[in-house]
Amino acid sequence: MLGSMMTKPLLISDLIRHAAKYHADTEIVSRETDGTMHTTTWSGVENQSRRLAAALGKMGLRTGDRVATIAWNNHRHLKIWFAVSGGGMVCHTLNPRLFPEQLIFIVNDAEDRVILFDKTFLPLVTGTREHLKTVEHFICMGPHDSEVAAALPGVIFFDDLVGGETAYDWPELDETTPCSLCYTSGTTGNPKGVLYSNRSTMLHTLAISLPDALNLSAREVVLPVVPMFHANAWGIPYAAAMTGSKLVMPGPGLDGDSLVGLIDDYRVSLALGVPTIWQMLLASAAKSGSRLESLKRNVIGGSAAAPSMIATFRDKYDCETIHAWGMTETSPLGSANQIKAKHKGLDADAMAALRLGQGRPPFGIELRIVDDKGAPLPEDGHTEGALQARGYWVVDTYFGKQESALTEDGWFDTGDVSTIDPDGYMVIRDRTKDIIKSGGEWISSVDLENIAVAHPGIAMAAAIGARHPKWDERPIIVAVKADGADPSEAEVLAMFEDKVAKWQIPDAVVFTDAIPLNGTGKMLKNKLREKFGDTLIERGA
Ligand code: AMP
Repeated sequence: MLGSMMTKPLLISDLIRHAAKYHADTEIVSRETDGTMHTTTWSGVENQSRRLAAALGKMGLRTGDRVATIAWNNHRHLKIWFAVSGGGMVCHTLNPRLFPEQLIFIVNDAEDRVILFDKTFLPLVTGTREHLKTVEHFICMGPHDSEVAAALPGVIFFDDLVGGETAYDWPELDETTPCSLCYTSGTTGNPKGVLYSNRSTMLHTLAISLPDALNLSAREVVLPVVPMFHANAWGIPYAAAMTGSKLVMPGPGLDGDSLVGLIDDYRVSLALGVPTIWQMLLASAAKSGSRLESLKRNVIGGSAAAPSMIATFRDKYDCETIHAWGMTETSPLGSANQIKAKHKGLDADAMAALRLGQGRPPFGIELRIVDDKGAPLPEDGHTEGALQARGYWVVDTYFGKQESALTEDGWFDTGDVSTIDPDGYMVIRDRTKDIIKSGGEWISSVDLENIAVAHPGIAMAAAIGARHPKWDERPIIVAVKADGADPSEAEVLAMFEDKVAKWQIPDAVVFTDAIPLNGTGKMLKNKLREKFGDTLIERGA
């Protein structure tokens, strides 16, 4: 016997239909590629999404076809997301920060038929075009532009497309129809595609909107600084449509001054981004004297949020930081740090310690830690192990691959090393490949980095294992000085006294002008190991 309730498929088109009907006049504000501001509403987004879906259908695109974007977070990108996924096609967000060779690989691997691009990325499109084997149409996201038309013969303009057709009904799809595709950043080997389904995305959207996850609602003004090309902007565009939040889209203006301006001008209450963004934003706010008054909460993820950063938001700006963890393979939200009722009475230090970690998984995700033979380890808050995940929105098989991405017993190995406590709070200790192994003992690079960046004269720090004749590896800090500051090596090393065991104190601090970051803002530690891996040997260790 089956239940006798409606079996309505979970579809992305229902999100935009809902937003247009029940939050028709809620605004979507975006910074355009030319820097001007643009305002539309959820109803306007739905209207143009439908027109675009109709136009793409007329161009011959069918269910499951891949339609790529190279774009900032703005209203046209939002319309493309709903048009493509709602229309049954697959929205493939390309990361413009990748090397052109990687981009070419990804477009060919995905077999994208169309690329929609912001004018900013015209040189990238013209420079790679001849290598993109499957792309039939290039669509520039804007009105007709003679410079673009001259550089890219045959280009179509977004505004012409959405000016046409109005009659279009969102198709009734199977909920397992794919809706979007994201490639992992590929710091080792070729990037791999993760193909999300309507169903997995809808369940993820429901879960991330809940109070113990990102807590979205029709009362929030949300600024997704995290790019739509980085793990689907952590699902925010979908969750905003589901909950009727107002969106403020930053376009190309990702510098601290532009973001502070947006927060103050549009009374943003919740903003989301990676730590490097927040670092720039805090520096700008300190310079301009902004109180970031409207900002009640921010979400930090993508890399570990330093305790000093969380404390600054809390103490100086009265802004609650929600530290979240996830990855492209987990849609991306895997955990978020919200407290339980029993933690309400914790003293300030204990509360700060609890909120440093990456938090608990929402319903729909299970986490566990295992040893190097795959056997589950105790979740006692101390034991470290390889973090594995499973759930409704976790990858099963990478795009175009035959072999499963999972362990024999059906878990996805995240490549992170963590602890989990009996309440389910998870703390990322490191990436498996970045953990420092000194004489067989593990040292968390995240712990060392958190201590180093608490020095006011340090803007950014990476802890890496440097080769050592006796201990195999010893920790060293590679640091970038803050503007106008000139801390000495000894001063930075002094930060570690009494904070970690003596044998975990780094052996050296080397200063550098910049730490290389990958396309999603993560420190490229393999590059640092190549450059600074012999520091201790050169110093006579
Ligand atoms: P990506 O798929 O590019 O988003 O990368 C996912 C990886 O980013 C994870 O496996 C973690 O190593 C790292 N990561 C994401 N969020 C956090 C966080 N809050 N703290 C530490 N590492 C994180």
